[in-house]
Amino acid sequence: MALRVRGPGVDLDAELSVNPMFVQSAEAAAVPRHRLPDGPMAPATAYQIVHDHLMLDGNARLNLATFVTTWMEPEAAQLMAECVDKNMIDKDEYPQTADLEMRCVTMLAQLWNAPSTGSAPGCSTIGSSEAAMFAGLALKRRWQQRRRAAGEDTTRPNLVMGINVQVCWEKFCNYFEVEPRFAPMEGERFHLGAEQAVALCDANTIGVVAVLGSTFDGSYEPVAEIVAALDELQSRTGLDVPVHVDGASGATIAPFLDPDLRWDFRLPRVASINTSGHKYGLVYPGVGWVVWRDADALPDELIFRVNYLGGEMPTLALNFSRPGGQVVAQYYTFLRLGREGFRLVQQECRDVAMDTADRIGQLGPFRLLTRGDELPVFAFTLQDEITNFTVFDVSAALRERGWQVPAYTFPENRQDLAALRVVIRNGTGRDMADMLIDDITHLLPQLHKQAVPIRGADSAGFDHSSAHRRTT
Ligand SMILES: *Cc1c(COP(=O)(O)O)cnc(C)c1O
Repeated sequence: MALRVRGPGVDLDAELSVNPMFVQSAEAAAVPRHRLPDGPMAPATAYQIVHDHLMLDGNARLNLATFVTTWMEPEAAQLMAECVDKNMIDKDEYPQTADLEMRCVTMLAQLWNAPSTGSAPGCSTIGSSEAAMFAGLALKRRWQQRRRAAGEDTTRPNLVMGINVQVCWEKFCNYFEVEPRFAPMEGERFHLGAEQAVALCDANTIGVVAVLGSTFDGSYEPVAEIVAALDELQSRTGLDVPVHVDGASGATIAPFLDPDLRWDFRLPRVASINTSGHKYGLVYPGVGWVVWRDADALPDELIFRVNYLGGEMPTLALNFSRPGGQVVAQYYTFLRLGREGFRLVQQECRDVAMDTADRIGQLGPFRLLTRGDELPVFAFTLQDEITNFTVFDVSAALRERGWQVPAYTFPENRQDLAALRVVIRNGTGRDMADMLIDDITHLLPQLHKQAVPIRGADSAGFDHSSAHRRTT
């Protein structure tokens, strides 16, 4: 839970006991749990209390729910530790860090085939969510400018996307007052199709968001088909609707594994692309990126020029202060791996994902929804004839072995479908996949013996209306 919306309802007198070995003469044997303590304590004592408290957090490497990096090389961790005191926003004080940020933007622009790599504007963000706010705002402002220039109404902007989008797009629409237009799922189509996208567009559409790939099942949305359908719409009606590609995961996979797939700036209608450096960009959490195809795609009015840090600096960020280490670690990763290194890492993830999916499909009770051949992510459900246990029971049984494999129901119009999802990341190797298959194999006889389902969508411990979005 990110914040308490209602009153905390905590016992302000609750205390934490301190191990007597740590209690020094002046220190209390117990400290308040929720109140700020009256005085200081020794750093070792404070460390031990915090460290012990965190022990019951899940093991990050066994978390097959997250897309976010859970393992980096020690050299990367060392660089991050060396930069922990640098504030990314102080571009004058830390020009070397700022320089690495721009190198990363240029590398990404090139990777995504921007028409002029060196001049494509872009920046680092705290993640894809902040990048989405920016990309969405740029679409909204461009639409407003066009409409104002034509003397048309600018009060009812809308954004077209699939119902499978990550929650950041709902946030963008909510926070920046844009009507979200979601295309529902239908049958075995679990993401946005070209036809559905075009059908939702009108003169108030600021853009279409296409996702590479979907957090629900790891599938790529057909960006080129969506673009072609919008080209056709333009020739028919004159409506010119730009596309933003949410490549949170896929924008650092497709360039290496699917070089012929046209989803990026090679398609002239693609105005901007975001990615999460901390997903398949292979960096620990807190870095994302957004790049626009050219200066025209990013209205100048969104850029701030600040001079009070010494020197005039253009800045593009919703927040201000932010640690510098993540950007440095991103640059390290680009330098360390190069194109071929990235290809090797992502190919291994895809191979492990496809192999694991295949083996799960062969166990009998499961039906694969995706095979891990786009994002190294696959979703699977139970065969129709399994009525005595649910995917939520499978998830809970795996949790007993330490695995975090989320189960969730799909949104409109497939609320009838509940699935499990496995995300293979760098560091989820073949041995771990073997252990997972072994564990599933061993828990199945128990589940088959179960008389009736124990857990449904309401009892798996989280809110399934947005569970898939929470688990990323
Ligand atoms: C993870 C994800 C996001 C949000 O990214 P953060 O970096 O966690 O803010 C947005 N879109 C998609 C498709 C994602 O997978």
